[in-house]
Amino acid sequence: MRTSFYRRNRLFEIGDAPRPEPGPDEALLRVRRVGICGSDLHIFQGHLDHRVPVNGTIGHEVFAEVVEAPAASRFARGDRVVVEPVRFCGTCRACRMGATYLCYHLKVLGVDDTGGMQDYWAVPVDRLLPVPDTLADNEAALIEPMAVATHDVGRAQVKRGDTVLVFGGGPIGTLIALVARQRGADVRVVEINPWRVAFLQQLGFTTIGPGEDPVAVVRAWTDGNGVDVVFEVSGSPAVVRIVTEVVRVWGTVSIIAIHAEPTPVNLYPMFARELTMLGSRLYTRAAWVEAIELLASGAIDASPLVSRLIPLEQLQQGMEDALGGSPVMKILVDLTA
Ligand SMILES: [Zn+2]
Ligand SMILES: [Zn+2]
Repeated sequence: MRTSFYRRNRLFEIGDAPRPEPGPDEALLRVRRVGICGSDLHIFQGHLDHRVPVNGTIGHEVFAEVVEAPAASRFARGDRVVVEPVRFCGTCRACRMGATYLCYHLKVLGVDDTGGMQDYWAVPVDRLLPVPDTLADNEAALIEPMAVATHDVGRAQVKRGDTVLVFGGGPIGTLIALVARQRGADVRVVEINPWRVAFLQQLGFTTIGPGEDPVAVVRAWTDGNGVDVVFEVSGSPAVVRIVTEVVRVWGTVSIIAIHAEPTPVNLYPMFARELTMLGSRLYTRAAWVEAIELLASGAIDASPLVSRLIPLEQLQQGMEDALGGSPVMKILVDLTA
């Protein structure tokens, strides 16, 4: 079968490998779609070399079909599934608190351990969730980032009538905006890339573009109060510097982007307005269930986010395009091609 290898130094190569043998508690999957994620671009640039094995296979946004599953499991040949790509110990403090996705010994499949950028993949059967037949293959591949968004919006407790500002209109920022709007919030998105600004406007969002001051825009929009919830999804230190200044009294600042370096933040509004700042990473199982419901019911149409399908052989080019600021939201690797 075809597989992909992360060689390091910005190089992915495609090669042959034997089809994996599933263990007693594992299912063998025929992979159909794998999304290229922002964290995959971090891997591509070497930022996660301390976690990703040399010559490892990445890919954690996977939609697949079951080839074989243990007889005692709820899955059988032909089932359409997505993979919740986390393994946890079950006994550490985080796991005992119910935060298994923040396990102190967490392994993310496709980062720390073998992922889905290959024709076949053996996965623990308890990591599988069924995909309704109503959901097309391409949208099913968006369930994983959608679960990130439902988790983020849920943790920030966005409610009907809230004003919500999202800094960063990439795939995750856009999905957060879609989920918050579906909950009845009034959402605006700050984005500097002109292609993405146009894309967000086509989805019906009001954008705050380059040359505009988000703090001033929010002041005018909210009668000087500030928004109920702000999401930091841009990863930009310039945004972190002002992110507390756009929020109302008792409002919420939610940090989604990966800030690998310490960054100055204005803590005076944190104190003066008694703000709450929270981080959001990965997802609960409940967030996955909500994501599947929102997409399968048609409550949210995320299909416009799929910009391009590429065969596995073009993985290297896909990584370079996604990183190089070309006009794309989500690139999906189509393993059936
Ligand atoms: Zn992802
Ligand atoms: Zn644990």
